Amino acid sequence: MLTSIRGRSVIVTGASKGIGKGIARVFASQGARVLMLARNSAEIERAADEIRDAGGESYALAGDVTSSSDMERMASTAIEQFGSIDILCANAGIYPSARLDEMTQNDWDGVMTANLTGTFLPVRACLESLKNSRNGRIIVTSSITGPITGLPGWSHYGATKAGQLGFVRTAAIELAPHGITVNAVLPGNIMTEGLKDLGPEYIAQMAAAIPIKRLGTVEDIGYAALFLASEEAAFITGQTIVVDGGQVLPESLTALS
Ligand code: NAP
Repeated sequence: MLTSIRGRSVIVTGASKGIGKGIARVFASQGARVLMLARNSAEIERAADEIRDAGGESYALAGDVTSSSDMERMASTAIEQFGSIDILCANAGIYPSARLDEMTQNDWDGVMTANLTGTFLPVRACLESLKNSRNGRIIVTSSITGPITGLPGWSHYGATKAGQLGFVRTAAIELAPHGITVNAVLPGNIMTEGLKDLGPEYIAQMAAAIPIKRLGTVEDIGYAALFLASEEAAFITGQTIVVDGGQVLPESLTALS
């Protein structure tokens, strides 16, 4: 049994849907107080309402992880609402597809800014408060795509997800003297609202490539983040947890049969 995180103050970026909403739901279900951020104000309000309706504590904030002033506002709002920032889940990210022969510099820059600058700015904004926390935690949502695998159409995305790990490793060393750990969760294929829209046939095809024979749930990622946020994970820093049902393991198609 892990020490309870009840009452701890958590920020989750990109929390209006998908993995971020799942992370927020898991933390709130354990009694944490969760500030949820996304750009679309109606959607983030709705997601925070859902958590409150289920008995959790949440606060919705509209903001953009690529804006330094929005991130400062996010950190100050968390302090106003909860009195501290103990855990930052830097989860917001985008994955528009573009093959190299059609990729514009705008496509490239957009993904770099959203996924890499959008990891750095929330961390920087929350840093002083995380230092004041008893056990500060930073958990970055990376991906298997980039650090481990490649996927045509996502070279820019893969570069950002691998880049996040470089950030995590140096941040872990810099912040260790302050008792802050910095780790990354690497999801495989996770069942999000966007993926559901692709239909059952597409999803079945994806599941066939996964040894556990299903896609991950957003809660699967939430529980990995919850573990990294626990007191018991205090000696783990600069590391990654792959949460993919074994997707990266098979050496060949025959290994799956
Ligand atoms: P999603 O369903 O598209 O949700 C993305 C969330 O991020 C939304 O809440 C979105 O809301 C928010 N967001 C996007 N850009 C933002 C910005 N500039 N500022 C603030 N919020 C922003 O995505 P997801 O599939 O859950 O992915 C979440 C993270 O998991 C990403 O980092 C992604 O790389 C990673 N991941 C996902 C999978 C997967 O299978 N789904 C696999 C591996 C890794 P707004 O648009 O309203 O801002």
